Amino acid sequence: MARYTGSVCRLCRREGTKLFLKGDRCFTEKCAIERRAYPPGQHGQGRVRFSDYGVQLREKQKVKRMYGLLEKQFRSTFDQASRMRGVAGQNLLMLLERRLDNVIYRLGYTTSRAEARQLVKHGHFTLNGKKAHTPSILVRPGNTISVRGRSKKVERISGALETMEGRAVPQWLEIEKDEMRGTVKAMPQREDITLPIDEQLIVELYSR
Ligand code: SF4
Repeated sequence: MARYTGSVCRLCRREGTKLFLKGDRCFTEKCAIERRAYPPGQHGQGRVRFSDYGVQLREKQKVKRMYGLLEKQFRSTFDQASRMRGVAGQNLLMLLERRLDNVIYRLGYTTSRAEARQLVKHGHFTLNGKKAHTPSILVRPGNTISVRGRSKKVERISGALETMEGRAVPQWLEIEKDEMRGTVKAMPQREDITLPIDEQLIVELYSR
């Protein structure tokens, strides 16, 4: 699958907020947002006024980049959210939260979603006891996500679990660190996403 291979800190600077794409570095003063909190590029420090469309576009880009999706995948997730009962914007966020790569990141097995995606593809995790290879698969309440036997020795996973103290596991998930086993306790709720996101702007953008 195609993926973005450029500088991820540049994406944060473009959106003007931390998207937490680079693991532990995001929590240090080396974070590019801490050092250069203005958009990248030659005119980054100039004054910018966004139109309504520009504001909606930036919000969509922010969420898309936060979850590490490209446009086609993000758009199809939105279409799926629109077909569901309830509020399309909230459905979109809930679908994004339920992705296996996001859940692995939220459980603390990795320091970023990109790392989670890579480790899933390399077959380091099981979903309900079966090897899981698909980062986009959606989890449900009752599902268990574990590290496979020999993968428990992988330094990136055990190291991330040890250093995850700064990141709280959301209420809808539970992690048993010693067993390296996570459980989905419930469906995620809107209030579980604490980062500033205005999902209605994304709905407005795609409704144009
Ligand atoms: Fe974004 Fe993390 Fe880079 Fe900071 S260190 S700019 S939060 S990716």
